[in-house]
Amino acid sequence: MKRMFAAALTALMLGGLAAPLQAEPRFAPIPKAVIADPARDPAHPADMAAFTVPTGGVRVNALMYLASGDQPHPTMLMLHGFPGNETNIDLMQAVRRAGWNVMRINYRGSWGSPGRFSFANARADGEAAVAFLNDPANVAKYHIDTRRIVVAGHSMGGFMAADASAADPRVAGTVLIDAWDIGKEKAGITSPAARKAAIEGMTPDTVPLAGTSATLLVQEIETNAAKLNLEALSARIANRPVLMIGADHALGPTTRKLAAAARQAQALNPAKGSLTETHMDTDHSFSDSRIALEAEVLRWLGQFDPASAQVGTPQVPLKTAYDEANPFARILRGELAAPKVYEDDQVLAFMDYAPAEPGHVLVISKTSKARNLLEISPRDLSRLMAVAARVGQAQVDGLGVEGFTIVQNNGVGQSVPHLHIHVIPRVAGKPLMFVENAKGDPKAIEATAAKIRGAMKAQ
Ligand code: AMP
Repeated sequence: MKRMFAAALTALMLGGLAAPLQAEPRFAPIPKAVIADPARDPAHPADMAAFTVPTGGVRVNALMYLASGDQPHPTMLMLHGFPGNETNIDLMQAVRRAGWNVMRINYRGSWGSPGRFSFANARADGEAAVAFLNDPANVAKYHIDTRRIVVAGHSMGGFMAADASAADPRVAGTVLIDAWDIGKEKAGITSPAARKAAIEGMTPDTVPLAGTSATLLVQEIETNAAKLNLEALSARIANRPVLMIGADHALGPTTRKLAAAARQAQALNPAKGSLTETHMDTDHSFSDSRIALEAEVLRWLGQFDPASAQVGTPQVPLKTAYDEANPFARILRGELAAPKVYEDDQVLAFMDYAPAEPGHVLVISKTSKARNLLEISPRDLSRLMAVAARVGQAQVDGLGVEGFTIVQNNGVGQSVPHLHIHVIPRVAGKPLMFVENAKGDPKAIEATAAKIRGAMKAQ
């Protein structure tokens, strides 16, 4: 009786203490790196290095997209598929924009790399690439943070990524993108006719491969099916974070099996690892889901480097007390400097320090404490809009642009809780990106401000 009471009390307390149930997110946020370039670091700009990686007595072709900055960078190895027509360069570039180095190799005997292509050799090549990333000379040269090396692979590369991670505990996490369980193909080769069909099916993909043939590769699958079993490898990499993304119109069912194997392994050893399983309504190349693919990978990479998952859409509550410490209140009090283009007793127009376009101006009220459009009086708003229109005209006249766009964010997209009108110069044909931009060069901003000021005076 006493014990039952205690249990009930514990349950009550746990219920009371547990975190409130999170509402299902309505939209998975798109990390900024998917669509926005990072600020250029003039001392250590982003770069690309092409080199070779030793494996099996030859040196295979490789390249690395190098992130800017000379601090150690988290680094992703991207392993391509069979034969690797889909290069996933957009994904590699997005990950680099998020501050990662991203390396690619071409396996032995593929795409001009010397040696003979085989599944066994490709496994060894992936493992050699991980060893390359951990070599102290390369760590220093390419600014690699060896505690944050992630191996990703698409299709056959998914198999190779799992293999490289299983072989090397230094790998921090693994990404399998519509991975191919190569060994499972054996189950379908039940007759000479099935073998012939498998060889014929594989033949077109052997064109960029050297030292092999579809016949040899099918033989390799038949003789080495156990070694090419991706479910077994999925269980072995489940002691670290794993992301599995399946394509509904291709190998999605395989991904479900791999995820189940990883989950089972994690259930046996729950203290370690994590599995994120996602499925997308797309084909094997993610032809119509490239942005979704990049976003998913970047969100997952955020666990190794929070900046990777950072979104470009800020948010402030629609209703809170006016914050006297917000940057625009400080500009109005003269505590922060900002190049001005116009001022009267009611309104101030000044340069945005992180312009969406050169000449980006913000127009604010000096008298109203409205945080957003829901709070401003029509009278104050009309004063702001009258100045915004004059600023737009001055941008057209002073900067020679073809137009301007007015933006005004409320709550979502808003970072400063003092109502402001963005007046953004527009160059014909150039799209506008609604993300938090990198800070501009103060000298260039002042020079642009001078042109707008001049055109305002001439009005
Ligand atoms: P929003 O996201 O609509 O709230 O826009 C706020 C804008 O203010 C952004 O474009 C920022 O770049 C800009 N901003 C924030 N602080 C300053 C500052 N101290 N000087 C100039 N612009 C600023």
